[in-house]
Amino acid sequence: MKFFTHLAFGFLVGLYAIDFFNISQELLFMFFVLVSSIFADIDHPDSKLGRWFKPLGWLFSHRGFFHSLLAVALFAILAYLAWGNQLIIIAILVGYSSHLILDALNHQGIAFLFPLKKLKLKGFLKSGGIADYIMLGVFITLGFLKLTNNIF
Ligand SMILES: [Zn+2]
Repeated sequence: MKFFTHLAFGFLVGLYAIDFFNISQELLFMFFVLVSSIFADIDHPDSKLGRWFKPLGWLFSHRGFFHSLLAVALFAILAYLAWGNQLIIIAILVGYSSHLILDALNHQGIAFLFPLKKLKLKGFLKSGGIADYIMLGVFITLGFLKLTNNIF
């Protein structure tokens, strides 16, 4: 899925996570959710984030390690070692997982159990296709409604 679709979905999921986990530092939490929601595409040299870290895109295949449960666990552990803050770890788990869920709907899928590359979660949607833009609109709308307390 596209950059802004990931951000909008991360934002929406982050709003629900704030309620569910009873988060008190909402801005700090949402910052890490949003960064985590786009982080996995650092493995694509032409993605918005990957352009700044091109060598990573050359070293790692797109939708390989960075799009796996192993990466989610590794970055959560690194965050714990770096900050020791439970809130940041939850934010990373929420944001990163939101990215993988959306990419699993894509026809290319993700090797979520990397390094087992053959076992893929995949859907039928095309990144940048009409469904991508419809989802972007839906996520923005639901995020706005959630933010203004018009939906649960
Ligand atoms: Zn991705």
